[in-house]
Amino acid sequence: MPGGAVTYQTVPSSCRLCPAACGVLVTLERGPDGARILDVAGDPDHPLSEGYTCTKGRAGADLHHHPERLDQPLLGRPGAGRGTASWDQTLGLVAAGVRRIVEESGPGAVAAYRGSAAPFDAAGDAVAAALFTGLGAARFDSLTLNASAKSRVGELMTGARVPWPSPDLLHTDNLLLVGQNPLVSHGHGTAVPNPVVNLRLVQARGTIVVVDPRESETAHLADVHVQLRPGTDPAFLAYVVREAFRFGVDEAALATCTRTRSVEEVRSRVLPWTPERTATVCGVDPDVLEQARDALLKGTPIAAATGTGTTMSPSANATEWLVWVLTMLTGSLDVRGGTIFHPGFLHPIERVRPEPAVDPGERAATRPDLAPVAGTLPTAALADEILAGNVRALFVLGGNPALSLPDSEKVRAALQRLDLLVVGDVRHTETTDLANVVLPLAGQFERADLTAGTNLPVVFAQYTPALVAPVAQRRSAAAVFGELGRRLGLPALGPDAPALPDPVTDDAVLGALAAGARVGWPTVVAARHGLVVDAPGPGWLLPNLLPRKIDLAPPELVHRFTAFEGLLPSPVRLALVPRRLPRQVNSALRDVGMQSALGPFPTLLMHPFDAAERGILDGSVVEVSTELAAVVASAEVTEAIRPGAVSLPMGWETPNVNLLTADDDCDPHTGMPRLSTFTVEVRLAPRADD
Ligand code: SF4
Repeated sequence: MPGGAVTYQTVPSSCRLCPAACGVLVTLERGPDGARILDVAGDPDHPLSEGYTCTKGRAGADLHHHPERLDQPLLGRPGAGRGTASWDQTLGLVAAGVRRIVEESGPGAVAAYRGSAAPFDAAGDAVAAALFTGLGAARFDSLTLNASAKSRVGELMTGARVPWPSPDLLHTDNLLLVGQNPLVSHGHGTAVPNPVVNLRLVQARGTIVVVDPRESETAHLADVHVQLRPGTDPAFLAYVVREAFRFGVDEAALATCTRTRSVEEVRSRVLPWTPERTATVCGVDPDVLEQARDALLKGTPIAAATGTGTTMSPSANATEWLVWVLTMLTGSLDVRGGTIFHPGFLHPIERVRPEPAVDPGERAATRPDLAPVAGTLPTAALADEILAGNVRALFVLGGNPALSLPDSEKVRAALQRLDLLVVGDVRHTETTDLANVVLPLAGQFERADLTAGTNLPVVFAQYTPALVAPVAQRRSAAAVFGELGRRLGLPALGPDAPALPDPVTDDAVLGALAAGARVGWPTVVAARHGLVVDAPGPGWLLPNLLPRKIDLAPPELVHRFTAFEGLLPSPVRLALVPRRLPRQVNSALRDVGMQSALGPFPTLLMHPFDAAERGILDGSVVEVSTELAAVVASAEVTEAIRPGAVSLPMGWETPNVNLLTADDDCDPHTGMPRLSTFTVEVRLAPRADD
């Protein structure tokens, strides 16, 4: 930076690329031409991550300066006159388009898709949500791609919208992970910061049982790995529940918070799951089942968590249900060291009791078979709604539906049919490539933020200011959607909420959001490394705050349990289970810097038996197909995957696993599409001259 003094500074902040919310130290270079981010490293003074970051977090500087970052608003589709525009022109065009579509087709013709990255921008997410609620827009959430069961099962069992149960990671000596690989994912529903250290601490106190068809990074570390056939998690859990009954349950304690007849219903349902039958269905050695049972039923509370390995499969509801049942029967739910409920930071649970679960509301006209979940429509209905003309304008924030929804080909055709596809993102994606309006949003270090998620293992809050000014025309999502709301006459933070601050800045919105938080805003702002906040410990929810006693056997869930075997791929064919690589967060970050440190590129994992049967070698180019489509991948022949299962990472364009999935194969109670545990054929890819 010639012609002026250059200074260097290292400041604390937080990584907002995934829910683990690690504390980071960001080194800035400031000069006459502005500021550059030079380095992102772990913050040893952060109370949760204690200096840990993953390779993605440490690539924060590359991400900030990435050549694919969006710098200017774009109008028009690629190949159809796309060009840069001013913000005034862009927001004017969007507001006029929305007004016209609402006048012609009603507010439901405008829809919003909230991707998994949206909640990592607290102010932007809140302002956008207020705008879409005010508009009466149809709401779709990527949670309905991988977490519907977590919401719906809790509602069916308790009659209330309760927080998702999560393991008391910091106190447990008895951890059960079903289809979850926190060493790579850093949790699902619950964040697992500093995963190796925290899991080793669990092991120093007790044991970890991992249930997964693959010897994942976490399974490799576990004390017991139940490497079962994909989708048979309910069988394994039914066996453990049966054993819990056999060992004796505390009937008096159960009677205080559960419907007695429902306990008996569960007992009769799990009785047939003898060790022999379970071993056969799961394809697991009976000794392993016994080891898992002895670890889990050793008498201390079970801290249980499920991950996308099960929540994206047709066994999701039955698995989630049996985890609830197991933790209830063993006195593990809502107790220290067991499976707990987060009491909230922004909305302390003492002041906001769980709402009764009510009728989930209006369904998508084209897909009346799919129930809404947690106030949003299942994303499996989105393409049909667009193709039928019911949705004409779609806003996408923090997501990449062109890649992450089932049946990518149909989804992309639908997205191209929209009158208005408005995508706000920090970089080009497969979805910005289809948009006719692209909004270049500020990246994580260009905006102020608050990390205070109910997914964290304790009640915690960390404020970060913007560290650098946004490059070029980038703007924070809060400012963009606040301005759009003002142009559309919706300048509030929600129906019963205060007016948006004027001007709409991230800092002003965060201060307004934190008005009812556990700790005053100045205290949060002053704690630059974050602060762990005093809050009610476990035991605050059950049974006193629920509208009724817990139903341990809701008919919908019992039905899914009795049906799960019929939904499994045939044991003589191959079942595909997706996985995540260390170098990605869903479909994001695949190419950050392209550093080899970010880990391997996607391969098809296949057991040597299955490979040999098909003449496939390690490194062979193979074709993976369903009735819908075929994709090509490189085979990785390994004993880390069990025979009969194969695995491809999700969230990649090449190979795109969602070309293989369908949007009409959905769970009747959650609308969850089957994105895991589906039958595939695998063969050597035909050569070009075949
Ligand atoms: S685990 Fe990695 S991506 Fe997630 S918050 Fe921590 S550093 Fe960021």
